[in-house]
Amino acid sequence: MSAEASGAGIRVRYGAATDIGRVRETNEDSFVSAYPVFVVADGMGGHDAGEVASAIAVEEFARLEGRSGLVAGDLEEALAEAGRRIHALGEDSPHSAGTTVALVAATAGDKGGSWAVMNLGDSRVYRLSDEVFEQVSIDHSVVQELVDRGEITSAEARVHPYRNMITRALGAGPDSRPDHWLLPAREGDRLLLCSDGLSGEVEDPRIEQELRDGVDPQEICDRLVRLALDAGGRDNVTVMVLEATEVTDPAG
Ligand code: MG
Repeated sequence: MSAEASGAGIRVRYGAATDIGRVRETNEDSFVSAYPVFVVADGMGGHDAGEVASAIAVEEFARLEGRSGLVAGDLEEALAEAGRRIHALGEDSPHSAGTTVALVAATAGDKGGSWAVMNLGDSRVYRLSDEVFEQVSIDHSVVQELVDRGEITSAEARVHPYRNMITRALGAGPDSRPDHWLLPAREGDRLLLCSDGLSGEVEDPRIEQELRDGVDPQEICDRLVRLALDAGGRDNVTVMVLEATEVTDPAG
């Protein structure tokens, strides 16, 4: 059953599912639904470092639960605090920990309900709005750079030997600058957040089909996790789906 929450410009019905997959020994993905904030984080690092890093990220964003006037600065602040805590882990351990962050927040701006999207790494945010399906976030990854330069196609990227190498992360590596988007929300919008355990196993057209045809956000999450496992489940897989059931009108 999906849950529902409102207060910040958009009433949201949402669901989430995660699975360790068929190969990995631990689930290093974390997620949180803390309306108005929804986050998927995919941790990396030896031993339990990845698990801890992704858990820290969602914990810092969960502190924003119940906030109605969220701005990008609040998200940046939570990200910076999580980054500090993850760096501190590295001081007692040789294993450098890091995590991706894919985030969607419901916001009530002057122009009505909007979706704030933030991304760092190769977890993804997709949107189905007004019948148009698109990937909102742009992966910070080696293969994305090769695709941008026209050296490989996105189909080749999915099976490329460097497909797991990311170029930005929180904690690990020098670059932890996120990208931001602010998108007007429409009633009926569906947003999907996922770790690469979904996008690496299930092709976009199938993700789109499930997002279009599914009735309930929780059922869509459960189905997509099942599809990723059926396709091999080589990584931890996490999926969240949000649906805008009501959007506040623009003031004036
Ligand atoms: Mg992963």
